[in-house]
Amino acid sequence: PAARSADTDALVRLDRAHLVHPVTNWRQHEERGPLILTEARGPWLKDASGHELLDGFAGLWCVNVGYGQESVVRAATEQLHKLPYATGYFDFASEPAIRLAAKLVDITPPSLTRAYLTLGGSEAVDAAARFIVQYWNAVGRPAKKHFISQERGYHGSSSTGAGLTALPVFHRGFDLPLPTQHYIPSPNPYRHPQGGDAQALIAASVASLRAKVAELGADNVAAFFCEPVQGSGGVIVPPVGWLKAMRDAARELDILFVVDEVITGFGRTGPMFACDAEGVEPDLMTLAKGLTSGYLPMGATMLSEKVYAGIADAAPAGVPVGHGATYSAHPVSAAVALEVLRLYTEGGVIANAQRVAPAFAAALDGLRSHPLVGDARCRGLLGALELVSSKATKRGFGAVPGLAERLFASAYRNGVVFRCFGDGVLGFAPALTYTHGDVEQLFARVRKVLDEAL
Ligand code: PLP
Repeated sequence: PAARSADTDALVRLDRAHLVHPVTNWRQHEERGPLILTEARGPWLKDASGHELLDGFAGLWCVNVGYGQESVVRAATEQLHKLPYATGYFDFASEPAIRLAAKLVDITPPSLTRAYLTLGGSEAVDAAARFIVQYWNAVGRPAKKHFISQERGYHGSSSTGAGLTALPVFHRGFDLPLPTQHYIPSPNPYRHPQGGDAQALIAASVASLRAKVAELGADNVAAFFCEPVQGSGGVIVPPVGWLKAMRDAARELDILFVVDEVITGFGRTGPMFACDAEGVEPDLMTLAKGLTSGYLPMGATMLSEKVYAGIADAAPAGVPVGHGATYSAHPVSAAVALEVLRLYTEGGVIANAQRVAPAFAAALDGLRSHPLVGDARCRGLLGALELVSSKATKRGFGAVPGLAERLFASAYRNGVVFRCFGDGVLGFAPALTYTHGDVEQLFARVRKVLDEAL
């Protein structure tokens, strides 16, 4: 990297001394210091030393429309001038929040008729879990308190959501999971014993959900939470038909089916929502990230009429449903979301992603022959390479200390950003505005990083 200015050095000192970073080793970070990003345009990032990086991860799988979309900036600015804040408490509302709720109901699966607007994905999951508890209490089934999610699932890091998340670092030292939180195996075609046979893998997942519900007692189980493609768990792509089979099983088992589309929503896997590909109608859906493309914070908890009405009808007149935050349904975030949603459809962003997706899949596939690559997988513009130390035995790198850091350093040198999961899985989620040329550049740089890691 180029030399840093005195201003940057001062910032680095302040960061090391004061800024607590999310999902980071705090002490090691004090040693390493921050990588300060200063500007971005299209798919390109620039850091404080002027080094340019091709962003292969859309920030944190969120900047779906790419950086520097002027119409989004205008939408935010206009709303800031007009009405920068309006509470949603006590019957207050703002025009963007109302229009956004209606738009989300319009574009999500038909079962979803109500939108609760949050600050991000963790809060959307947390609200979903709290609404589910309310719902079962409201309809006179208070024993239904247990939640089932999936190993390697990620559902944010709220007090409840981090327990639905099944990644060890989110539990370690936090006294999680709660006694009401349970997991079933992840549908990973590369690692599952039935992985080679899509139908067998789907049947195994359904059987494990049934078995877990039987173990807990159907009368005690509130809901099943899942991601259509597991993101932070290592971009685990189940076979087509898996989501529908799990939905049908949940209905039969009389438990609520919650689809967490925080990553997969808004064109990331091809259609507007991953549910659309299989005609799945969940009871609840959680959204964030692509909702505003990361330009401002916002998420949503989508509710079916059954869940909404169950809660609404049980609240005595004058007694509020006690859930909300100062920034729920924030008008500026809502204005940004409305413009981002317009770009997805009228702006052709999702159509572009669908055009580019085959090249993305082919580029990932082309890296299968690399000596370090055990598996290459994707759906839409969401993909991963799983690195192995032996292709024959599929032996992974496990938790090799420092592997993610070494890959990250090499990626930086080669001017590219992607996600290095600690266990040797590399994740890719480029902006949906990527061109074929951007895809080529991304994977040319990734190949160099892999060659350096040999
Ligand atoms: N759910 C899923 C599937 C996610 O991937 C994430 C974040 O990565 C969340 C929930 C939490 O969202 P947020 O980070 O906006 O709180």
